[in-house]
Amino acid sequence: MNKGKNTKKELVAEINNIKSNVLPGDLKKLKLDSLEDIVSKLDQFTDGCEECNKLLNRFRPDILDELKSFNSSKQNKYQQNMKGMLTHLRTKHNVVTKGFFVSIYLPVGIAFGFLIGSIINNLVVGFAVGIAVGLIVGAVIDTIARKNGFVISSN
Ligand SMILES: [Zn+2]
Repeated sequence: MNKGKNTKKELVAEINNIKSNVLPGDLKKLKLDSLEDIVSKLDQFTDGCEECNKLLNRFRPDILDELKSFNSSKQNKYQQNMKGMLTHLRTKHNVVTKGFFVSIYLPVGIAFGFLIGSIINNLVVGFAVGIAVGLIVGAVIDTIARKNGFVISSN
């Protein structure tokens, strides 16, 4: 348990160190703000989840070491590694990135709007309603999930 806490502390310190050394554009592009959340979530589930344990142990070589010697040829691998962690957190622990629910419900809303538009014979109004409904439902679920600690910032 203590060992785990130290790992997290060390990783977060390294992330902050990397963050202070990159250009503001890269900070956003590489989603560095998500890393600390990912480490926290992995750390939170380590006790009960073998995969989280493994991912947390791989975090330094897979993510941080890639970032330290970062160049454009490494971007794909870095993003792939990050995606793998996020996918595990989403499928096993219901942790999603910000905006996830909007991206799910917006298409549903638009499909719904198309249906409404066909019924009232006014596709423009139908689409407008559908987009509004999709955005609102997505945002509401996003907010609820965030309150319960199930959302990782991806700014
Ligand atoms: Zn896990």
